[in-house]
Amino acid sequence: MIYLDNAATTKPSLAAFERAKVYVTEKYYNPSGMYEEGFLLQGELKKARSALLSKIADESAFELVFTSCGTESDNQAIFSFARRGNAVTTMGEHSAVAAAFHELKTRGVAEPRFAPLEKDGRVNVDKLLSLVDDKTSFVSVMHVNNEIGAINDVNRIAKLVKQKNARVIFHVDGVQAYGKIPYKLSKDIDLYSLSAHKIGGLKGVGALIKRKSLLLPAYLIGGGQESGRRSGTENVFGIMQFVYAAEEKFATLKEDYARLTAYREKLWESLDQAVYTRLSSDEGTPYILSVSAKGLRGEILLHMANDKGLIVGTGSACSSNAKNRYSKVILACGHDEKTADGVLRLSFSPETTEEDIEKAGEILNEIGRDLSKRMR
Ligand code: PLP
Repeated sequence: MIYLDNAATTKPSLAAFERAKVYVTEKYYNPSGMYEEGFLLQGELKKARSALLSKIADESAFELVFTSCGTESDNQAIFSFARRGNAVTTMGEHSAVAAAFHELKTRGVAEPRFAPLEKDGRVNVDKLLSLVDDKTSFVSVMHVNNEIGAINDVNRIAKLVKQKNARVIFHVDGVQAYGKIPYKLSKDIDLYSLSAHKIGGLKGVGALIKRKSLLLPAYLIGGGQESGRRSGTENVFGIMQFVYAAEEKFATLKEDYARLTAYREKLWESLDQAVYTRLSSDEGTPYILSVSAKGLRGEILLHMANDKGLIVGTGSACSSNAKNRYSKVILACGHDEKTADGVLRLSFSPETTEEDIEKAGEILNEIGRDLSKRMR
């Protein structure tokens, strides 16, 4: 099976899994235990936090709170800091941010505002800035778009937002960026969300990076873990496996970036351009190539590919509900419904091989031409 749905989840790193196994077989203690074994684990968790944080942030200014997933990190950021007035985000966000923003309205917390996108999926920065005013408490902009792969220059955007309103808390959903694209948090970023399973970690492990000076209210209340900000006994095995997987990814980040950029271009060039239109820009992440077989249904192509041993994603919201049939993000990029209906998202990992790319191109051409013929 060729797996090109790595933006949905990646295969966990088995090497990281092996290294972390000791936290199940021997060091299974509760880190809050008063005995030495528990105490030692506290120390290891502290190092784990530092290992993940130091890859992208200055440890003297930022700290890291473990969560159960990227969604929790996003929710914690939004519900902790969006206050009276309005909160601004983009039309490109993952539902972990978009749905939480809609919820702000339902709960009467703040007016959500959504900035439009450019054709390539980046936020239109001027329009975003025009939505920020003196009543804006919170702004959230995703780093790498999970559907189309656009990269927002979040450090620059945060700076411009703060020039307009210095009191704004600026959050970044970094789930598709961490360990994949070169980046360091600037002084204008307040919060940054991570998720382990997008880089060879396990599902159910995430983190929220926060500026140290920012008072993060407790999200889960109980035993007071994570310095009282997120109670619940720590998933030590999952956290350690995340640390080891991240070490692997950061060690080869530059080489992977260059190789996958070449693979993305090779795959695109191999596709029959009478069938497929490219949606992702070549300035986007090398990890995602979004194309559309306009006039065909992406969902049908997905099943045809699956039958031939290729797993890909679509741009649709995986719903038979007509309202959700078309990806809001693809429409927000200015594409029509026919284009949105035909979207296939091809997403890679450092494990993707050149052979996978060649074979995937052949399969996609075969099924695309086959379905086109049948539609005539
Ligand atoms: N944000 C983005 C951009 C994502 O791509 C995802 C997952 O697809 C999430 C948030 C949610 O992460 P998790 O699956 O860890 O909850």
